[in-house]
Amino acid sequence: MRIILMGPPGAGKGTAAESLIKHYHIPHISTGNIFRELYKDRTKVGKIAKEYIERGELVPDDITNEIVRHRLSHSDVKKGFLFDGYPRNLEQAEALDKMLNDMGWTLTAAINFSAPDEVIIKRISGRRVCETCGTVYHVTNKKPKVPGVCDHDQGRLIHRNDDMEHTVRRRLKIYLNHTEPVIGYYREKGLLITVDGTQSIEEIDQTLKKVLGEKT
Ligand code: ADP
Ligand code: ADP
Repeated sequence: MRIILMGPPGAGKGTAAESLIKHYHIPHISTGNIFRELYKDRTKVGKIAKEYIERGELVPDDITNEIVRHRLSHSDVKKGFLFDGYPRNLEQAEALDKMLNDMGWTLTAAINFSAPDEVIIKRISGRRVCETCGTVYHVTNKKPKVPGVCDHDQGRLIHRNDDMEHTVRRRLKIYLNHTEPVIGYYREKGLLITVDGTQSIEEIDQTLKKVLGEKT
């Protein structure tokens, strides 16, 4: 299984990824999570990425592609992988193709989550993430057992800085201009699967396992 999850911010990619990676025993490669980790570890790349993230802009392609290239050099990706939030523009899609070509690998599917802006805004405004392990919750749709506290490691749940409304609007604009064209790129390659992201977490999970099951 070599899967890509695409879709606007807040569409539910990370949430669906959590279940799929357990089901298929493959690593979850979220470029957003990698950037946040690099920042937490006070690395130079993390500090540069943070500036772009907080403005709601894409981190430059040379940095992002290099991070992915490095991640793909780990041995765990031999059993497959799930990309979440990468590629986010046509240049990244082409860079990924080159990396996969070099390894002699092909993609299984590119899954696109569709969701209208009003659903996205509600999801992002209610999104809370664990400060330490990054687990994602929602104030009404996916509540932790104890409000404000992570179920897994008791970390504090925070509202990401870039999830504030004015930054989200900027991210949505960038999505439309830069990321949406990637959908056509994978449609032309016959890899595109579109999922109605407005369905419940369970419905999306079942749909995805069914369509991916047919691909193996
Ligand atoms: P979301 O899941 O809400 O879309 P992510 O965690 O995927 O958020 O991304 C957060 C931010 O990290 C993005 O707004 C962007 O600044 C940066 N980022 C993540 N992935 C990429 C990427 N592939 N290319 C450039 N920037 C990225
Ligand atoms: P993305 O990775 O695409 O940015 P997330 O998976 O982080 O999106 O989900 C955004 C917010 O919406 C989170 O708070 C999450 O708990 C919630 N959420 C995710 N999927 C669904 C769904 N199918 N129905 C309702 N809420 C959802």
